[in-house]
Amino acid sequence: CFCKLKGSIDDCSCSVDTVDYFNNMKIYPRVQSLLVRDYFRFYKVNLKQECPFWTDDSKCAIRYCHVQPCQEEDIPDGLKGDMLRNIHFNESPVDKYKASMQYNDCLHSAKDHNRELGYLNTTISSENYKDFELWQQYDDAQDNFCVKESSPGEYVDLLLNPERYTGYKGPSAHRIWRSIYKENCFRPENSPHNFIQSSKINGMCLEKRVFYRVISGLHASINIHLCSKYLLSPKDNLEIVPGGRWGPNLQEFQIRFSPETTGGEGPNWLKNLYFTYLLELRALAKAAPYLEREEYYTGNKVQDKDTRLAINDILNIIKSFPDHFNESVMFTGGAEAQLLKEQFRQHFRNISRIMDCVGCDKCKLWGKLQTHGLGTALKILFSGKFDKWESTLHDFNKKKFFLERSEIVALINAFGRLSESIFELDKFRQMMR
Ligand code: FAD
Repeated sequence: CFCKLKGSIDDCSCSVDTVDYFNNMKIYPRVQSLLVRDYFRFYKVNLKQECPFWTDDSKCAIRYCHVQPCQEEDIPDGLKGDMLRNIHFNESPVDKYKASMQYNDCLHSAKDHNRELGYLNTTISSENYKDFELWQQYDDAQDNFCVKESSPGEYVDLLLNPERYTGYKGPSAHRIWRSIYKENCFRPENSPHNFIQSSKINGMCLEKRVFYRVISGLHASINIHLCSKYLLSPKDNLEIVPGGRWGPNLQEFQIRFSPETTGGEGPNWLKNLYFTYLLELRALAKAAPYLEREEYYTGNKVQDKDTRLAINDILNIIKSFPDHFNESVMFTGGAEAQLLKEQFRQHFRNISRIMDCVGCDKCKLWGKLQTHGLGTALKILFSGKFDKWESTLHDFNKKKFFLERSEIVALINAFGRLSESIFELDKFRQMMR
C-alpha cells in the first residue's frame, strides 16, 4: 500500500513506525480529550480581515463553509472581556500586574480590567503603557512568525465548527496553494513547475527544505481531514451529524495521495505530514517548562485544575519521546544564516496573511488557526527566547516575554490536527488492507 510509508522521516532521525506508535497509542487520545476543554475550545479569530493580496475573489456561498457563531452565554466567564490571565505560578503580585499589562484590550475594557486587577493597589499610567506598547511592537517584529490581526475578532467554538470536507476547491483554493508554494516558499533553482517536485528538494539547504516540508505537511493534513470527514451519500458507512453525513472516503484519499494520481509525489507529501508533526512536537517539548506553569484560566477552578493536570500529563509523555527534531543545527553560521532566518520568517508571515484570502470561512478558520499554531512553534524553536531555560524564566518577568493565550490555544489545536491526521492515515491503511 502506498500509504504504508517506509524508512525514516527525511531530515529527522526517526521512523514513521515510531511516530505511528507514539502518536496513535499515547498522544492522540490524550490530546483529543484535552481539546474539548473550555480553555482550548474557544479561539478568538478575525474572519473578516481583508485579503491584502487580491480583491477579485467573490464570497463563497457553499453551505458547508459557514462558521457557526458563538453565543455570548456559552463563552466561559474567565475568557470574556479579554482580561485573560496569562499568569504563571510562583510570580509575585508585581509580576502578575506586569503580565496583565501585556494585553492591549486592558485599556479598552476598563471595567473587566479593574475587576481582575482589583487585588493590586496600583494604577496604570498611560506613559508606562506607551512604553509597553512600543516594546511589544518591537518584540512582535523580532520574534513572531505570524502577522498580528488588526482587530481581535470574535470567539469561535471549535467543537461546533469541525474541520472537514466543505467543497471548497477550484481556482480560489488553487490560487492560495499556488501563491504559497510559488511565491512564499523557497523553491529549487530553475524549477518551472507551479508546485514543487520532491526530488528537487534535496538539492536545497536544510532550512529551505524544512520550510517546504512544514507547508507540504500542513497541506497534506488539511487534505487528509477532508477525506476522513467527507460528505457522503446515504449508502456509505456514515457518522451522521446534524446538517450532514460525514465519514471516510477512501477513494478520495487514494486520488489525492496515490503515486499514480500525483506523479509519484503523494507518499512524500504524507511523509511531510510526519515531519510537521515532529517539528511541533519538538516545540512543545521545548516550551514544556513554560507551558507547565501556565494557569489555563477560564474562571472555573475545577476545570482549570483538570486542564493543568491533563496538559502536564501530555507534556511528560512528549518529553519522553526519543527522537526529537533538532532545530539547533539550523541557522548556524553568521550573517548569512541570520539573513536566511529573516527570509524564513518573512515567508511564513506572508503565508499567515494569505490565510485572509481563503474563500471559505470554515477553511479560513482552520487555516488561520493551524498557521498560527505552526508560527507559534517556529517562534518557540527559533526566536531564541526558549533556548536557555533558566535565564529565560527570569527574563519573562524582566522582558515580559510570554506566549499569549491565543498562541497556546492555536499551538495545541494545530498539534491536535496533525495528531488526528496521523491517526486517520492509519485508519485508511486498515481500510486498504
Ligand atoms: P489541492 O489540495 O488544491 O492542491 C493543489 C496542488 O498542490 C496539487 O495539484 C498538487 O500539485 C499540490 N499538492 C497537493 N498536496 C500537496 C502537499 N501535501 N504538498 C505539496 N504539494 C501538494 N477543503 C475542505 O474541504 N475542507 C477544508 O477544511 C479545507 N481547508 C482548506 C484550507 C486552506 C488554507 C486551503 C488553501 C484550502 C482548503 N481546502 C479545504 C481546499 C483543499 O485543500 C483543496 O484545495 C481542494 O480540495 C482542491 O484539491 P485539489 O485536489 O485540486 O488539490
